Amino acid sequence: MTAGDVIAWRCSRCGGSADGGVLHISHRDVRAAERAAKEWNATTQSKEAFDLADIFMMPALAQWQVACPACMRAHNCAGCYQIELGQCATLTALLRWQAHLYDKSWFGATNWVGFVHRVAQEHAPHETAGVW
Ligand SMILES: [Zn+2]
Ligand SMILES: [Zn+2]
Repeated sequence: MTAGDVIAWRCSRCGGSADGGVLHISHRDVRAAERAAKEWNATTQSKEAFDLADIFMMPALAQWQVACPACMRAHNCAGCYQIELGQCATLTALLRWQAHLYDKSWFGATNWVGFVHRVAQEHAPHETAGVW
């Protein structure tokens, strides 16, 4: 496997092949994560010291999900940002999407970086060995 190979996407919900599906993130989850981050920032910035307990209280990020066509039909985001898997089939394509998404105000409220890191590790373990 190399970075040019097509990623074997698996559905986050049923675990099956996600061919023909989408990568999606719920607008509702993104708004909740943005709100929680704002509150968290306001609380921690008003404190003199940042302690360990604050880290554990850090708000969760909105999660990118992979959905196969069947799970997509049944899914309940009630509105989400979607990228067709055919349009992000390789790590290079994902990197191009990252450049596009980086300009969105809500990019930082999502787990994109961790998500892509995991995809890269699973897809090309020998290339990412030792990278943290
Ligand atoms: Zn599925
Ligand atoms: Zn969705």
